[in-house]
Amino acid sequence: MNAYKIIFISIISLISFIISMAYAEIEIQIPERYKTKEVFSKNINDFLSSLENSSVEYLRRFIKAAKESPEKIFISPISNNPKTWHSFLDRKRSHTEPLDGKAKRLGRTIPTSCVIYVDPEKVIFQDKSGVLVHELVHAIDLAYGRYNRDYKIRERRAVFMQNLWRDVNGYSLRKTYHSRFSVIDYQQAKQKGIVGQYIKHILNGTDFPNI
Ligand SMILES: [Zn+2]
Repeated sequence: MNAYKIIFISIISLISFIISMAYAEIEIQIPERYKTKEVFSKNINDFLSSLENSSVEYLRRFIKAAKESPEKIFISPISNNPKTWHSFLDRKRSHTEPLDGKAKRLGRTIPTSCVIYVDPEKVIFQDKSGVLVHELVHAIDLAYGRYNRDYKIRERRAVFMQNLWRDVNGYSLRKTYHSRFSVIDYQQAKQKGIVGQYIKHILNGTDFPNI
């Protein structure tokens, strides 16, 4: 084989390797000793499939963006391990953490892999909170490097999608973020018939324009 041929083959292999790395999957990560491993895994997969098979295009587009993100999104159950807790005061609260070890308040402009710690009881069939949809927005923002420094903007983006999911399923919508500030953006956008514009913005932009 001559030198040119070797270079050509190496370039082709490098390109195929880069293409295979271009899309990161959502990965469920469960500690070895976690008791209800299969149940958790099945519940998460069922939930993700329900988004993929949704009759609502916005939800299908949303989960597609999560699955095609340039960085990996892990989903793990909140367990007895304090590392999985939001805080010592709130051990049940789902949250999403960047895996680069830096503070969230710095925001992210480069794709950053992350882990969603979710309360296993919040991804069961009867759950009406849509918390995984909420956390997936934070995860997408991190994984695409669109994680705003302002936590209020991050939460408004996340609740918008969460409220869309609740609306589609006929559940009551969130009006505030833990009684701290108003998050009725989805309700307002729906009234004005501009939900689509906002979904597009959430999946492409970094901020949250006022409605
Ligand atoms: Zn949030």
